[in-house]
Amino acid sequence: DRLNNDFQFLDVGRKGPQKIDADVRKKGFGEIYESFDKTDASEQSHRCLECGNPYCSWKCPVHNHIPDWLKLISEGNIIEAAELSHQTNSLPEVCGRVCPQDRLCEGSCTLNDGFGAVTIGSVEKYITDTAFAMGWKPDMSKVTATDKKVAVIGAGPAGLAAADILARNGVKAVVFDRNPEIGGLLTFGIPEFKLEKDVMSRRREIFTGMGVEFQLNTEVGKDVLMQDLIDQYDAVFLGMGTYTYMKGGFPGEELEGVYDALPFLISNVNHCLGFEKDPADFINLKGKKVVVLGGGDTAMDCNRTSIRQGAEAVICAYRRDEENMPGSKREVENAREEGVQFQFNRQPIEVVGENGKVTGIKVVSTQMGEPDENGRRRAEVVPGSEEVIPTDAVLVAFGFRPSPAPWFADFGIDLHDDGRVKAPEQHAYPFQTTNEKVFAGGDMVRGSDLVVTAIAEGRKAAEGILDYLEV
Ligand code: FAD
Ligand code: SF4
Repeated sequence: DRLNNDFQFLDVGRKGPQKIDADVRKKGFGEIYESFDKTDASEQSHRCLECGNPYCSWKCPVHNHIPDWLKLISEGNIIEAAELSHQTNSLPEVCGRVCPQDRLCEGSCTLNDGFGAVTIGSVEKYITDTAFAMGWKPDMSKVTATDKKVAVIGAGPAGLAAADILARNGVKAVVFDRNPEIGGLLTFGIPEFKLEKDVMSRRREIFTGMGVEFQLNTEVGKDVLMQDLIDQYDAVFLGMGTYTYMKGGFPGEELEGVYDALPFLISNVNHCLGFEKDPADFINLKGKKVVVLGGGDTAMDCNRTSIRQGAEAVICAYRRDEENMPGSKREVENAREEGVQFQFNRQPIEVVGENGKVTGIKVVSTQMGEPDENGRRRAEVVPGSEEVIPTDAVLVAFGFRPSPAPWFADFGIDLHDDGRVKAPEQHAYPFQTTNEKVFAGGDMVRGSDLVVTAIAEGRKAAEGILDYLEV
């Protein structure tokens, strides 16, 4: 009897949900993993050792009660598992899909040393998807409404998480976003093959049902003034993300055919979802030879989007080796299966072109040197190793820097030297900015990072707001 077997991990190996064949999945933009069925979810959950001091929970930025909901799922108890999982996470079905589990919960699972970690992310996704399909909704029956209301700027994971905690404590949250749909980078950044967009529209319905109000297509500073929000609300939460694209700083970046990663990905989302304002805005790489520069999640998304658009060939050039790549290993493997060719230890030094159009990218080889301040080994240039990779298009995916709004100074919202908003976690009111009525969290405070860290900060900032408002 498997359910009574404490050593299930010896009999049942780690098994992820079925992955759609690369040849099939690269023809479309749908998610590449099937869902667990009840038996798989239960058997995989039962592999958990129920460690007394679970490292997985500790390493998870929102400190999910992982062993507890795994136990509930091993017993087939979906609804209780969904309630429990929502006690610590505002978007569990999203994290289950896009967290780099190999670096977080699953990377620190006790079984991750030869037996194979418990498939925590896939079970987390299964719990919420299944509970929603069964008609479950967060239980708000015990919430008592207060007379407080808070304006949330940004409907990304940080803003949504803040709104979730506020709503569950009886505070009215009104969320403003300049985009036509909620999600921030979850909708207008992360491609559909990692996170299908109806996941976010379903969440919008759930949050709306919880009393959260959304004012979309509304940019604060333009369509609505910050002064009005300060006057009309008891507090304001900023979850506005980071949107300054990092440049390579080498010659030729202005040539036709060189694109920043995010405009490329957004144009594809807009094209696929029907948000496109002008067909000329769509950056279409069908039939083109493409070189993607970078080695993080954004670079992988550019690689795999280019493949799906029908690019003739996609090369990903990265200046370090595979071991020192910053992104999720799972996504690198997926990209490779879909036909992306990796060229490691290649540093771009110039985009070359003819008649104003890109024709190639000049790179030098590198070798790995001493670790830098982040512990990643530096890439050192090998003299005399220049070569040109011929290409029709270059996608620059070097990451993002903060993009503070010009009006922050008018409201006494101070910044660090690099443009991040000052909103310390260790503070009488966590994540309060230098304007006592204004709190902030997510990428704009910590620098561009992860969905789950933005959720963690949005939730903690909302707790800070509740304390400040004495709710
Ligand atoms: P955002 O998600 O950027 O949301 C900010 C919101 O604020 C946006 O909707 C914006 O429109 C709105 N806004 C800004 N200014 C205003 C204004 N003045 N008025 C109204 N609205 C405003 N993380 C992972 O964990 N896993 C991944 O696989 C992953 N893949 C990624 C792939 C790509 C291509 C990118 C770019 C990022 C990826 N990330 C991934 C990182 C992750 O998406 C971010 O860390 C996370 O979305 C940050 O959340 P946030 O709420 O701080 O900001
Ligand atoms: Fe793992 Fe992310 Fe879920 Fe935490 S939120 S348990 S890190 S998948």
